[in-house]
Amino acid sequence: MEIYDNHSLKGLNTFGIDARARRLLFLRGSTLDEPSRFMNDVDELFKSDFRKAPYMVIGEGSNIVFTKDYEGSLIKVGEAVFYGDDDGRYKYLTVGASMLTDEVVRLSVDYRYYGMENLSAVPGNIGAAVVQNVGAYGVEIKDLVETVDAIDLLNGDRHAFTCEECLFGYRTSLFKQQPGRWLIWRVKLRFNSDFRPNLSYKALADELQRRGIVRPSQRQMRDVITELRWSKLPRPEEYGSAGSFFKNPVVDEDTCLRIKAACPDMPQAHKAGDGYKLSAGWLIDKAGWKGKTLGRAGVWPKQALVLYNTGSCTGAEVVALAQAIQKDVQQQFGVALEPEAIIV
Ligand SMILES: Cc1cc2nc3c(=O)[nH]c(=O)nc-3n(C[C@H](O)[C@H](O)[C@H](O)COP(=O)(O)OP(=O)(O)OC[C@H]3O[C@@H](n4cnc5c(N)ncnc54)[C@H](O)[C@@H]3O)c2cc1C
Repeated sequence: MEIYDNHSLKGLNTFGIDARARRLLFLRGSTLDEPSRFMNDVDELFKSDFRKAPYMVIGEGSNIVFTKDYEGSLIKVGEAVFYGDDDGRYKYLTVGASMLTDEVVRLSVDYRYYGMENLSAVPGNIGAAVVQNVGAYGVEIKDLVETVDAIDLLNGDRHAFTCEECLFGYRTSLFKQQPGRWLIWRVKLRFNSDFRPNLSYKALADELQRRGIVRPSQRQMRDVITELRWSKLPRPEEYGSAGSFFKNPVVDEDTCLRIKAACPDMPQAHKAGDGYKLSAGWLIDKAGWKGKTLGRAGVWPKQALVLYNTGSCTGAEVVALAQAIQKDVQQQFGVALEPEAIIV
């Protein structure tokens, strides 16, 4: 295990917040090839005193906002390796938790393993994708998860979770609901053997139609989605962000009808469980925040759901902006916005 004291987090979070961690613990080695350097490093982790202070597993930091220095240990899983197999009906990729989600999509396209292409260009790694149940363009990672291997950080036990046991929901999972408990080190994903493009997301279907693509190939889906995504979002190399800062709120029918009556231009609300899912981006835009800044934090002009770093902003400035937006949306629409990003 590599140990770094007083480590800068600036390159370890996509918001580009300049904070430090008291300690960064880096678990090296291939997570697939057992007994491995990775498991040796896990043993070393448990022999250390990491639980005496706060600790947290970190991926690529693309959904975390550090509001201050982290006074404990951040644990990072190292090398990413993978292997594929096939049971005649489905194809499978087993990947180490630190492999980037987009790299897994790229592999699936190269191998013609189908079903993950709609998650093209989602930042972060595959371990965190499971924690967050990432979703984009009509697909969530839960649609592909076969099993998840995790280490219980309370006692070092290893568990293999089925997809059902992961308790996936909208941007949540068992692992998100039990922060600090699990370290995901390996994920097995299940793919279709035949290609059926998922065109359920309207903006994607419209874009393909606009380009005159009637029967898209898997690679065309990946290319179009990647372009579409970056046409609306800040590129991490230019402006820091955590992607969508808030979850789309789910409200009861009365609230939904009340807002629709007051604002007939409200986008179609989709049924979600007992309620209706509203567009948080539209609410923020309607509340007048699109393109605005507060301190050095801003609301992305092309997508109001994204808060971004206009330059050298602190985590506290991001949180101040988020709170101001929450207050206005609550006052104007009676709707509580909940952050999707993890505020530390
Ligand atoms: C520009 C941009 C666009 C985005 N677009 C989308 C999108 O379309 N859809 C979407 O769903 N998300 C999106 N996101 C959010 C982000 O990509 C996801 O939440 C991603 O899964 C975070 O991955 P990460 O590796 O950066 O995790 P981190 O931000 O480092 O961590 C996220 C959480 O996972 C935990 N964690 C990380 N690794 C592990 C592990 N191995 N074991 C246990 N816990 C772990 C952390 O403790 C933390 O709670 C976007 C972000 C950005 C910056």
